[in-house]
Order: sequence, then structure tokens, then C-alpha cells
Amino acid sequence: MNKTDVLIIGAGPTGLFCAHQLGIIGLNCEIVDNLDKAGGQCIELYPDKPIYDIPAVRECTGEELTNNLLQQIKPFKIKFHLNERVEKLKKIENRWHVNTSGGLKFDVAAIVIAGGVGSFEPRKFPVKDCEKFEGSSLFYSIKDKTIFKDKSISIFGGGDSALDWAIELSSTSNVNLIHRRDGFSGAESSVHKVKELNDKGKLNLYTKYQMDSVSGDKKINLVKIKHDEGKIKEIKSDYVLGFFGLIMQLGPILDWGLNINKKTIEVNTENFETNVNGIFAIGDICSYPGKLKLILSGFHEAALAARGCFKYVKPDEKLRFEFSTTSKAAQERLGIKK
Ligand code: FAD
Repeated sequence: MNKTDVLIIGAGPTGLFCAHQLGIIGLNCEIVDNLDKAGGQCIELYPDKPIYDIPAVRECTGEELTNNLLQQIKPFKIKFHLNERVEKLKKIENRWHVNTSGGLKFDVAAIVIAGGVGSFEPRKFPVKDCEKFEGSSLFYSIKDKTIFKDKSISIFGGGDSALDWAIELSSTSNVNLIHRRDGFSGAESSVHKVKELNDKGKLNLYTKYQMDSVSGDKKINLVKIKHDEGKIKEIKSDYVLGFFGLIMQLGPILDWGLNINKKTIEVNTENFETNVNGIFAIGDICSYPGKLKLILSGFHEAALAARGCFKYVKPDEKLRFEFSTTSKAAQERLGIKK
């Protein structure tokens, strides 16, 4: 059981800044995210795109913003639980018990939901049998590319991830890139490179083909692909990779008894608490009159929600408002030595 003051659900920009705001008022937290890295939409959807409306930052990419936020909360040594989706919630006396998909358990005084547009999950192959190979020889993201060295890999998809991995792995592996259309949605330069590698025999490109079936004993050894006109082709494959983008869903949070309005959680604007005491919602996932789905709005909501958590964690203490410029306690927590 992980016992802490506050559980933050979602490591997007809002959840990360909330950890900072909790830290400077002396509350501990842990963060759970369904993805394998922190940053939410900024990292998953637009890591290289410049953002121009973060106050006092003229321009920064999604990745730079995430790195800066992570740097800012470093002094608090926050524990991240990645690749975990929150599932069940139970109130036990004054505490909340939360279970995750991977079997983790949390015992906390308050919860901040910073789940953005919901948990991102890969769009999967609609083909029977794919599931049984998932995690051993069929993947929707790559954690360790060294396992593909000198192997035969079938990559499905036509976006940037499929193209980039096909290009990168083609230097160490036998790569087949399979896409259901002739046109690609990824960057023009990558499409050009893939076609060039195909012409040079450094990878095999199959367009207008889709997965038909996969077979093998414990691991995949054969993939059958089907052309639009019905022709079936067999490809010997050690690994299959599917890059079809992400779907976003609120999932089990929908069953937590919160007031849900068009896939967002209704909150008050005093402290961003939901209709359930001790559960707060901030960032893209919350709704209230005038809500703007901007990172800067999420930062404001995080500051107020963090202070809202205080009374659940320390019911016998009163939180005094202080500026970070003058609060000795906040500076000590940030490890600032003068
Ligand atoms: P998110 O960034 O969505 O993060 C939520 C996190 O919660 C995710 O990592 C998700 O995996 C996790 N999560 C959700 N549910 C669960 C669960 N059940 N269990 C575990 N984890 C869960 N905003 C601006 O202010 N300026 C811009 O210029 C700008 N440009 C943008 C460009 C693009 C292309 C896009 C798509 C968005 C842009 N935005 C911009 C919007 C901005 O990215 C969002 O407002 C911001 O990311 C919201 O932050 P968040 O922390 O609330 O949610």
C-alpha cells in the first residue's frame, strides 16, 4: 500500500505543476499516469511543436515545457507510477483507497484528477489472436529497440511513428512496412526516405495491405496480410508493431460518482473540488463556466486545488497564504539555501 497525502492522476502539465504547488505548502504526493512518460498531451501529441502562450516564456516546445516542469519539482523527489491506469476507488473512514490496473494500491487523504482528455491508449489490431502475443512479440510502443536487432519485423501504420521506426530499425533489422493506403499521414521527408529505402531493398513496403492473421506458438512467427483486392501474402516475422495512433477515454473514472458533463468533470471554481469531498479535478478534464482548455488555466486550477487538499490532509491546521519570494518554509522545501 502506497500511503501519501495526495494522489495525482495524470502527469500532464497540470498534474506536474500541482505536485509543485502541493510541495511548497508541505504536502506529499505521488503521481500515476497511464503513459510510459510524464508530459501528457505535450509529450504524446506535440513534443516538437512550439507553444507561445506560457506566461513569461516566449516560446518552448511541448517537450521543453515538460522537462522544465519536471526540473521544477525535482526537489520534492516525487514518486511516479507510470504505465498505470487508476481503476477502483473506495472511501475508508476519512481516506481514499485507489487501485490501479497494475495492482498498485494507494491510501490517500485527497485525490487530484488531472487526467486531461482521458487516458491515452493505443488503437489496437482488430484481428483475433493479436492479444495473445501482446507484450511478447506484438507491441504498440517500443521500450527497448535492441530486442529487434537482426530480427524480421512487420510494422503496420502510415503515420510518423510507423515511418520513423521503419526508417530507424531498417539499419539493424529486416523491416516490412505495411499500410492500408497508398498515401501516408506522416512527414513528407519520412515518406520520401521510406520509399528510397524500399527502392534500395533496405526495407519492404506493402501498401493497400492490412493485417489478416498472425500465428505462432508462444511468439509470432508468421503474419498474413491481405491486399484491398483480396490477395493474401505471408511474411515471416519475429515481431509485429502496430502504430495506429491513440484513443482517449475516461474509463473507470466515469464510475466514481462524479458529476460528468460531456466527458469532463464539473468542479467549483473556488478550489476545483468536484461534487465528491476530497476529490479535485483540474486541467482539460474539468469543466466550469468560462473554462479555457489552456495550460495556463490548468496551472491556476492546480494552485487552488493543492490548497483545497490541505484541509483533508491536515484537518487541524490552518494554511496561511504566503508568497514563494518570502516563505522560508517553501524555500526550504525547494532546497534553496541562502
Ligand atoms: P493532459 O496533458 O491531457 O495530461 C493528462 C494525463 O493524464 C495524460 O498523460 C493521461 O495519460 C493521464 N491519464 C488520464 N486518465 C488517466 C487514468 N485513468 N489513469 C492514469 N492516467 C491517466 N495549450 C496551450 O495552452 N497552448 C498551446 O499552444 C497548445 N497547443 C496545443 C497543440 C496541440 C496539438 C494539442 C493537442 C493541444 C494543445 N494545447 C495547448 C492544449 C494543452 O496541451 C492541454 O490543455 C494540456 O495538455 C492539458 O493538460 P492536462 O495536464 O490537463 O492534461
